[in-house]
Amino acid sequence: MEENVKDTVKQILTDYLQANKHRKTPERYAILDTIYSINGHFDIEALYHIMEDKGQFRVSRATLYNTIILLIDANLVIKHQFGNSSQFERAYNNENHHHMICMQCGKVTELQNDELLKAINDSKLNKFHPYHYSLYIYGICNKCSLAKRRKNKQINYREK
Ligand SMILES: [Zn+2]
Ligand SMILES: [Zn+2]
Repeated sequence: MEENVKDTVKQILTDYLQANKHRKTPERYAILDTIYSINGHFDIEALYHIMEDKGQFRVSRATLYNTIILLIDANLVIKHQFGNSSQFERAYNNENHHHMICMQCGKVTELQNDELLKAINDSKLNKFHPYHYSLYIYGICNKCSLAKRRKNKQINYREK
């Protein structure tokens, strides 16, 4: 992620914290910086380990969770619900994309489709100003369907 994007989101966070009379703690900025270094989606657990590896800040899972709620409110983070798991991704300068979710292993793959983007951008939304949207396509990934086919073959073989 380019440095100017990080500067911009830092400024958005500063304005948000000031406007809402929240404290400007270094932890909040460190978490924001880490999130904007991640490509794609993450859950709290993954973020916790990335923060731990960086070793700059010892932040609890509760702090991470509370900060993420704050960042969602500041329009800096998007929350996704993929099946049973809550995942997050950065919101600013993250081009709208779609998500394919495997119902078997839960793997999430991002999908860019310009025609869909255009169709949604061209839609006339009555008395409504859009910020972002999500499209989830549920199905079975290649790896899982291959594993399933193999398993079926084995069962057939045993029955003979
Ligand atoms: Zn799968
Ligand atoms: Zn995504």
